[in-house]
Amino acid sequence: MTESTTIRWEQDRTGVVTLVIDDPRQSANTMNQAFRDSLAVVTDRLEAEKDTIRGVIITSAKKTFFAGGDLRDLIRVTPETAQDLFDGGMALKRQMRRIETLGKPVVAAINGAALGGGYELALACHHRIALDAPGSKIGCPEVTLGLLPGGGGVVRTVRLLGITDALLKVLLQGTQYNPRRALENGLVDEVADTREDMLARARAFIDAHPESAQPWDRPGYRIPGGTPAHPKFAANLPAFPANLRKQTGGAPYPAPRNIMAAAVEGAQVDFETAQVIEARYFVELAAGQTSKNMIQAFFFDLQAVNSGANRPQGIEPRKVTKVAVLGAGMMGAGIAYACARAGIDVVLKDVALESAVKGKGYSEKLCAKAVARGRTSQEKADALLARITPTAEAADLAGCDAVIEAVFEDTSLKHKVFQEIQDVVAPDALLCSNTSTLPITALAEGVERQGDFIGLHFFSPVDKMPLVEIIRGERTGDEALARAFDLVRQINKTPIVVNDSRGFFTSRVIGHFINEGVAMVGEGIEPASVEQAAAQAGYPAKVLSLMDELTLTLPRRIRLESKRAVEEAGGTWTPHPAEAVVDRMVDEFGRPGRSGGAGFYEYGEDGKRAALWPGLREHFTRAGHEIPFRDMQERMLFSEALDTVRLLEEGVLTSVADANIGSILGIGFPGWTGGVLQYVNGYEGGLPGFVARARELAERYGERFAPPALLVEKAEKGEVFTDAR
Ligand code: NAD
Repeated sequence: MTESTTIRWEQDRTGVVTLVIDDPRQSANTMNQAFRDSLAVVTDRLEAEKDTIRGVIITSAKKTFFAGGDLRDLIRVTPETAQDLFDGGMALKRQMRRIETLGKPVVAAINGAALGGGYELALACHHRIALDAPGSKIGCPEVTLGLLPGGGGVVRTVRLLGITDALLKVLLQGTQYNPRRALENGLVDEVADTREDMLARARAFIDAHPESAQPWDRPGYRIPGGTPAHPKFAANLPAFPANLRKQTGGAPYPAPRNIMAAAVEGAQVDFETAQVIEARYFVELAAGQTSKNMIQAFFFDLQAVNSGANRPQGIEPRKVTKVAVLGAGMMGAGIAYACARAGIDVVLKDVALESAVKGKGYSEKLCAKAVARGRTSQEKADALLARITPTAEAADLAGCDAVIEAVFEDTSLKHKVFQEIQDVVAPDALLCSNTSTLPITALAEGVERQGDFIGLHFFSPVDKMPLVEIIRGERTGDEALARAFDLVRQINKTPIVVNDSRGFFTSRVIGHFINEGVAMVGEGIEPASVEQAAAQAGYPAKVLSLMDELTLTLPRRIRLESKRAVEEAGGTWTPHPAEAVVDRMVDEFGRPGRSGGAGFYEYGEDGKRAALWPGLREHFTRAGHEIPFRDMQERMLFSEALDTVRLLEEGVLTSVADANIGSILGIGFPGWTGGVLQYVNGYEGGLPGFVARARELAERYGERFAPPALLVEKAEKGEVFTDAR
């Protein structure tokens, strides 16, 4: 290899070499073989021609600076190929080390996003200047994929920022900073407004620092804030395990643990040894199952879902300009904010003007908070608020090209509000309902244009929750589905698409999680253990507290409706053991949940959750009745996974990526699993292992754990759940 194919060498008369990364085969520069080869070639040349070179600028010709490692390669690493990954990683680190020890100033001119490998490349330079380009992000998000920055990112951030800041600001949360915030937090040294400005600043640095070296290569260097051996630092050390527990809730996320170990161990040894330590911890993560799960979900599945793998083809994308939001309660107010934030005009309608104004007040609060925290300007906040018009008059909805209904959960009321407005809004307006449980096909019967009617299920709180579940009714047209998809993307949320069914995907599956937790209380298991099992499995909300939030009467009402529907269709209702517990809690003990001031938990005067209700132990707990902790956790995880497989069988779900993403972003299925079906794929022993374990749980805890036919069939054929055809 004598030629660099992805890094262009541009040398000016003053001896400044600009290395322009520009992979001709891809729209972004990645850490592929061509890049590695090119880096070796330019490094050789830099060393050979050192006497004629004054300094080096590394930049890119793409929109992003450098995109880092190719995740398609990483997801295929196995324990058998781990040594190759280690060797390749060390070779790359040696190249970067040669650049940073060249003896000439090297500047990273970060012209666009530098995340992961891109930021690691910049870290190997002596000076970092970021262009303040819109959407540009800087940081090490590896932890969010179950990995650590294995290209020197741990070793160098610890030496640049000190161990505490490196861990808390860069490595453990994986925060992606915009250039200004990257500057404030010490990730870069300067921010430039234009590309010319960036390159001029790079030259100025070279002029001023003819013999540059990294701080850690200078005599007398000490890690900022001290190493663990330092008395001042040792005072911080005990806080780390607690922080770790706080971040993971005790759930099986190996990445934060490895990051911390690589940082703390690496801080006590020389640079080269620290690089080896980092590589070992990196390879361990890459060869393990969790990173594969997380890469599958947060990279591949998320990309598939957001890019419209499930959107009908051949329909021109359309943007909504004016939306009618019906009902200004908790959900309507949140939906109005999300739409206005995306630049859409909103007419927010409630029965009384006062209620609509109150609904707009919610946006006012969110805007004030965003301004106070510096996340937006007063000007932008004012513009957002000006887009929301509260009203009680149907006539004000004229010209709306989309309607999102969020009135009380009641079919006849929903029919009535659509009747009121369907002739006022644009004649082809998209008609959406935010129902969380009512079947869309039956709701559509209340409108004239059933083909334009669709379910758009938002999650609470709307401003924070990234998911929207789109529900296609039997008569919903392709055009409506495509427009609903486009609307969700327009407001920067992630759309999954499901077919109509009672509870759709998310509401139905989360019900299994809750039922399983409640059933365990009914069996006599200590309620605190049930809560702990959910937390340590990685669920963001404990199961009984979640039940209280939803209120016990709501699932009961839904259950009674479902029971009636099943029986009307000639079927038999199989009661879940949780039902008796809920009935006793409501009827016998008068504890309907948080909104009623009493549920599985007790609540203070201020509505704040206090301790678990002691009556639970008195009325339900059987002293000494215990089941293995693993069974408790897997009963929750399996109950959701098994019903998801049934939803695939029933054709409610049509995509594995939607199931994985919907489960994590919508209903808190633990992220380390990669989502509800990736959990099945990645289970010990694969699908056959999962089937065997489901049968074991069925024998111990009830037929509801029996594996569905589709699962057994796939396990027998040696298949996994995938959308790849
Ligand atoms: P809410 O009780 O907070 O708000 C309902 C609002 O609708 C009230 O402001 C009420 O005045 C208004 N309303 C009633 N009749 C009306 C009419 N004829 N015209 C205009 N407005 C009218 O309820 P919510 O929690 O916002 O739920 C609304 C819908 O969203 C329900 O269908 C619910 O199932 C669904 N949903 C709720 C959640 C949640 O977490 N709360 C999540 C997803 C979906």
